[in-house]
Amino acid sequence: MRIARRSCCFALALSAWLVPPLAMAQAAPPSGTPAAAQAEDFRAWLARFADEARASGISQATLDATLARVRWLPQVIEQDRAQPEFVRPIWLYLDGAVSTQRILAGRAQRQLHAGAFDASGKRYGVPASIITAIWGVESSYGTHFGSFRVIDALATLAYDGRRRDWARGELLAALQIVQQGEMPAGSLIGSWAGAMGHTQFLPSVYLKYAVDADGDGKRDIWNSVPDVVASTANFLAKSGWRPDEPWGAEVRLPANFDYARTELTTRQSSGDWAAEGVRGIDGAPLPAMQGASILTPAGARGPAVLVGNNFRVLLRYNSSNNYALAVALLAQQIDGGPGLVTAWPRQLKTLTRTETQALQLALNARGFDTGEPDGVVGPATRAGVRRFQQSLGLPADGYPTQDLLQRLLP
Ligand code: CA
Repeated sequence: MRIARRSCCFALALSAWLVPPLAMAQAAPPSGTPAAAQAEDFRAWLARFADEARASGISQATLDATLARVRWLPQVIEQDRAQPEFVRPIWLYLDGAVSTQRILAGRAQRQLHAGAFDASGKRYGVPASIITAIWGVESSYGTHFGSFRVIDALATLAYDGRRRDWARGELLAALQIVQQGEMPAGSLIGSWAGAMGHTQFLPSVYLKYAVDADGDGKRDIWNSVPDVVASTANFLAKSGWRPDEPWGAEVRLPANFDYARTELTTRQSSGDWAAEGVRGIDGAPLPAMQGASILTPAGARGPAVLVGNNFRVLLRYNSSNNYALAVALLAQQIDGGPGLVTAWPRQLKTLTRTETQALQLALNARGFDTGEPDGVVGPATRAGVRRFQQSLGLPADGYPTQDLLQRLLP
């Protein structure tokens, strides 16, 4: 959860090399090689981290059961540093995340585990379809939740990753899970980024929100579907899920709608949106929501959705609008509801990371500020694109395309 890029498919044993346990040195790589130097440096880091862990209450027995066996995983660092050049347009992402196969499998899983879903629905007030959809998007219902030893992955990231402080905190949380006797170190299995089990809980999230729902005394998000369902529902409930509200709805926008208002920061009630001429896609009234926002994930030529509090709760699970929309649409269709009515503008040629950076640089040079030219489209880039579109008399939806980039290049 909360990590946009995940991988579950690397064979652990192939490229991992064993770092000698803290007190032993017999497995070291040949001395004088870069690998040996790195192993030495990692061991020194581990020793310092162990001191820090002890100071925060981790026992020597826990350290022996965890850090003494830790491996440095080069493929985790490769994943952490990877910046894919091709940025998948939302329609291709949704084709995979909300496939017909996944909708049908979700209905089957929900039926198969009806007891667990009914119990947690009653207790936490989160619809079964939402939990099922998270389970589907996170791990294809438990079939791909990663094969990394999470302690190895987090130790690697805490030593050498891009967000070391974050990884150090999650590593300490993982040691805490072992120390509390919840699960042995070897059972903490998950993604390269430390997300564990069927619905990809980070260790700190596990400590706070995981639930033993099947009554065996363990909070087991790797092997117990009732525990997975209840833990995920508990996280959403504690994050502010409102049982009486939907995630949102697809809408139709009035002519001359100001697309600068399609940002999560613009919030008002469904009634206020309706007063501006926003309608349900099928002419139905808008669902009653406070603090609702309109999103047009592919600009003016694609679908528009009105999203409320519960969509924002999904963003706490993973802070990507595309992710939250995938969960919402998968849940809606698991429930037998429709997908989006409006077609995606699949004909639009979207930008690679390098092209986005070129667009940002060109806009900045012309005085349409997009902030840091990082190759990633965020609110600042959209704002700069909108001002450029306005200057051309185009619909200012802030959605960058190849056509727009061509207009900027000499
Ligand atoms: Ca259990």
